[in-house]
Amino acid sequence: MRKPAGPKAGKASAVQAAGGCACGAVRLEIDVPARWAWHDHSAASRRAQGCAYATYVGSYRSRFRVLAGEESITRFEDQEAGIARSFCSRCGTPLLYERARSPTMVNIPRAVFAERTGREPRYHMNLGEQADWTYMGEPLAPLKGYPGVMWERPRRKKPSPLDPMF
Ligand SMILES: [Zn+2]
Repeated sequence: MRKPAGPKAGKASAVQAAGGCACGAVRLEIDVPARWAWHDHSAASRRAQGCAYATYVGSYRSRFRVLAGEESITRFEDQEAGIARSFCSRCGTPLLYERARSPTMVNIPRAVFAERTGREPRYHMNLGEQADWTYMGEPLAPLKGYPGVMWERPRRKKPSPLDPMF
């Protein structure tokens, strides 16, 4: 697997979207528009990024550049799975997700970009691995006594003709 493209790699288009890690050590950019954007519901990405599902922006490697802090980027390679994940060694922000099956692409968490990337995340992958606790937009109500906290009321069970309680 190749290393991420360096600052001088590729040819810049007219428009870029820049992003960076939480501590600010690493800055990166892609040429806009990105190739595509997608939600990854795989258990591996869920664990690696600490979220219900990860939303990535896929960019051609040639349209991706590290602007600052390349020395702060740490890389974990899973040879068996054919993937590599890079993150900031200082603050832990996930930065790159590379897959051997797509060697010309780099996937960058949508969340690290402050600006628009030119693609809406309309694609879902690995839905079979979706966590059953993923928030799916269920109606929420304010939680009494806890300003700013919303909660999902327990679902009312529909009476079943087979249920002796009803
Ligand atoms: Zn950082």
